[in-house]
Amino acid sequence: MEQTFIMIKPDGVQRGLVGEIIARFEKKGFTLKGLKLVSVERSFAEKHYADLSAKPFFNGLVEYIISGPVIAMVWEGKKVVLTGRKIIGATNPADSAPGTIRGDFAIDIGRNVIHGSDSVESARKEIALWFPEGVVGWQTSLQPWIYE
Ligand code: UDP
Ligand code: MG
Repeated sequence: MEQTFIMIKPDGVQRGLVGEIIARFEKKGFTLKGLKLVSVERSFAEKHYADLSAKPFFNGLVEYIISGPVIAMVWEGKKVVLTGRKIIGATNPADSAPGTIRGDFAIDIGRNVIHGSDSVESARKEIALWFPEGVVGWQTSLQPWIYE
């Protein structure tokens, strides 16, 4: 089953959006496989966003991610990477549809509350980076009520 890495960024934690965000993924039917509250160091944030290191907003992005604790999660389900991105909404909250997390809870691109892996391959890398200890191997008993 497909997995994705979802991170509630420091603004989402500070603003008390953790429960609301987790509820959206839970209610959709995805399964929580890993969860922790962590403060990451600069070098770790730089590694997570290594693909964006040449961008003009890179330093500000790294400062943002290390500005407070984040919630790191692994969610599992059919097409969870793509669907997770849809639940999150467009990168710039000015363009995120209402009903998406960014559309409902964010205004500025540099305070857009949440991260989600953009491909199955990125998800694999990000889960390995954030959860080197591995995730929890459990199966929900709701499986037959969610999948046909
Ligand atoms: N970002 C920013 N300014 C930009 C583009 C991106 O501050 O012009 C930040 C924003 O927080 C975004 C993150 O950098 O979520 C990573 O950018 P990416 O293009 O990967 O967007 P995402 O995958 O998060 O939608
Ligand atoms: Mg991205």
